[in-house]
Amino acid sequence: MSSSPANFYDLPLEELRKLAVRWAFSPVHAARLWRYVYLDSVTAWSRMPELPARFRAKAEAALVFALLPVATETRSTDGFTRKYLLALADHRRIETVLMRYTGRVTACLSSQAGCAMGCVFCATGQMGFARHLTAGEMVAQAVHVDRVLRGSSEPERLRNIVLMGMGEPLHNYDAVMTAVEILCDPAGLALGQKKITLSTVGIVPGIIRLADEARPVHLAVSLHGATQAERAALVPVAKMWPLDELMAACRYYSTKQRRRIFYEWTLIEGRNDSAETAHAVGRLLRGLPAQVNLIPLNPTAGYGGAPANREAARHFQQILVEYGLPSTVRQRRGVDIAAGCGQLTTSAP
Ligand code: SF4
Repeated sequence: MSSSPANFYDLPLEELRKLAVRWAFSPVHAARLWRYVYLDSVTAWSRMPELPARFRAKAEAALVFALLPVATETRSTDGFTRKYLLALADHRRIETVLMRYTGRVTACLSSQAGCAMGCVFCATGQMGFARHLTAGEMVAQAVHVDRVLRGSSEPERLRNIVLMGMGEPLHNYDAVMTAVEILCDPAGLALGQKKITLSTVGIVPGIIRLADEARPVHLAVSLHGATQAERAALVPVAKMWPLDELMAACRYYSTKQRRRIFYEWTLIEGRNDSAETAHAVGRLLRGLPAQVNLIPLNPTAGYGGAPANREAARHFQQILVEYGLPSTVRQRRGVDIAAGCGQLTTSAP
């Protein structure tokens, strides 16, 4: 009985080399195939003339390029953001976002279909969990954005990725790290050490594992509350991993990796945007290698809160300065097409 073809995008280069050897070919052919796909953006076997015909025939029978068809594309009115609804093989759907900033383009990838974490202000959390994505389904999102960029009027390559789309990346640790390995391979898309940022809502074992394994990613931790009670009211996972355990894991990560952590803070009017709260954040993070990213709440169908106003955000930042904490207020991008932080969903509103 013949097995069904493997998804090419699931395979790190080393696995592809091993496959070539198992087929009794030189691993050099695997490396050439890899470059065709990731460097030249070619997936038609007939357009790979440097591969021996017998190798090509073997690979064609054993591998499939499972790109993700675009169900819909929406563009923000300011032209900076595009959101893609992509179809998975099992007919589930996910969203991927392309964001343009001055001098850089960032792809925001999903790591799961839905999310099990249930953060109250997040549209993905409101829809629930369907399943983990495979490494190949994450890589295929990046390949899609790379192809869009190559095909634009001023072609460019994908250089920044954030794993901040649908899903909690550390809940799907192994597949996410395989995807990171593929995306960072210098012979392929070659996203460098500082080009991938992974965001977690506070999966403590995942943070500790990340600290021990030294993966080439930046870590962003979604905090949203400076006391256990405030945080648990917004982020249910805090009941499983309380704030003090989370902060201990963050300190361990920063010490072990000698890296700062980005702390994400969704600013909700009247809920966590007061001067008192800013002081509490300052006391919590003082002395840590940290940057705080303040994100005025984006609207979702299932949560009634409002974003903090600009003045409150500025005041919050000023207080953080007193504690030696750098911060940014996230540019609001793609909110008109529900492509902003916490807005991704495949459920109808
Ligand atoms: S904020 Fe992130 S972790 Fe929380 S529900 Fe949304 S996707 Fe999941």
